[in-house]
Amino acid sequence: LDHIAAGHNKRKIIQQMSNATIIDEKVFNDCLKDITRALLQADVQFMLVRDMQTNIKKIVNLDHIAAGHNKRKIIQQAIFNELCKILDPGKPAFSLKKGKTSVVMFVGLQGSGKTTTCTKYAYYHQKKGWKPALVCADTFRAGAFDQLKQNATKAKIPFYGSYTESDPVRIAVEGVERFKEENCDLIIVDTSGRHKQEAALFEEMRQVFEATVDLVIFVMDSSIGQAAFDQAQAFKHSVAVGAVIVTKMDGHAKGGGALSAVAATKSPVIFIGMGEHMNEFEVFDVKPFVSRLLGMGDWSGFMDKIHEVAPMEQQTELLQKLSEGPFTLGIMYKQFQNILQMGSADQVISMLPGVDQELMCQGSVKERQAKCKRYMTIMDSITNEELDNPKLMNESRIMRIATGSGRQVKDVTDMLEEYKILSKAWEGTMKGLKKKGGRSALS
Ligand code: GDP
Repeated sequence: LDHIAAGHNKRKIIQQMSNATIIDEKVFNDCLKDITRALLQADVQFMLVRDMQTNIKKIVNLDHIAAGHNKRKIIQQAIFNELCKILDPGKPAFSLKKGKTSVVMFVGLQGSGKTTTCTKYAYYHQKKGWKPALVCADTFRAGAFDQLKQNATKAKIPFYGSYTESDPVRIAVEGVERFKEENCDLIIVDTSGRHKQEAALFEEMRQVFEATVDLVIFVMDSSIGQAAFDQAQAFKHSVAVGAVIVTKMDGHAKGGGALSAVAATKSPVIFIGMGEHMNEFEVFDVKPFVSRLLGMGDWSGFMDKIHEVAPMEQQTELLQKLSEGPFTLGIMYKQFQNILQMGSADQVISMLPGVDQELMCQGSVKERQAKCKRYMTIMDSITNEELDNPKLMNESRIMRIATGSGRQVKDVTDMLEEYKILSKAWEGTMKGLKKKGGRSALS
């Protein structure tokens, strides 16, 4: 990194790597340095990055790759695989069995999103046919029981807690007993989450754990950055953490902390929180996550190449969804959401064959993200009917949308113009695919 002069176009280095038929040591090292920087910026712990670098150097022995082999692909695959490996601790999380009672305890710092995540986890399993129940063993924070009660009621999930009992172990045991009698098969215990150094909190967690628990889930706020490793390790030392859930991945956090949490707890990430609502909760999938990590900053050029080796499934899924109906404003909204979640517009755009990439990729990643955000704010003022049928748009609706979103009329018409371009590109793509053999081209 020290050798790359300020202002030097690092993307060029990657392109150089991508295009070169013979990759020499310098290009390879420059590339590794850039990756190191991107990962550190994404809050991946320094030691992990260093280990990854060493491993890649071991795996990719440039001298020993036989002539004729595609060295570029081998290096890209090695980097991608290394990161996926860090996220795979080699053992699955404790597996719950439907119909047999499991008690799951949630731990994490106050504010990490523990209580919200308990309900999301219960709600997710309820939709899959489980019979979950929630127990509030947080006797420390005033209002904790009310919050859990409110969430549980909304999701129609039975709950247990007390306004007067101050012993969390007692509440946990009583709650678990009650729900076992009621044949619940997934009993979720929310614990209090004070500061990580507080010995009393850990002692409390340990006692609840010993009294009744099968699986401990550590909840971590993705925005804590480099602090993730120490925090996760502190919890792991006190209770047998078996799985990790990373919250607030919808925000600006880059998520590198997840790698640290896995490394510190030797436990897999099982879900990620993508918003405040009950259904903004996703099963964790390693490959797209790694793509996102690598897709930071300057990495879009490199990412386009990574697509050759990895996320074919993503492309297929997106294409399948889009092929089911016309390209509406609602679909465009979802796509913008994807762009913002994945951190780089190019990643999503490059998944759309036929879209004029030159046109779509104008401006910096930041500018494009800002544009997505601006358009999404405008689209928040559009009715569902209009989202499904953009042909309804007329002057008075445009005026209403501009007023509702606090934007200029021109912003609204710009957004509609963008929709037209995307929609047209999409139609062209679909026609092309149909010519190639219809829907089979999508599967
Ligand atoms: P606890 O103190 O750990 O129980 O945390 P809470 O469940 O009370 O959550 C703290 C705040 O984070 C609340 O405002 C939640 O709505 C919010 N929150 C939780 N999970 C997410 C998430 O995945 N995304 C976003 N944006 N906010 C979240």
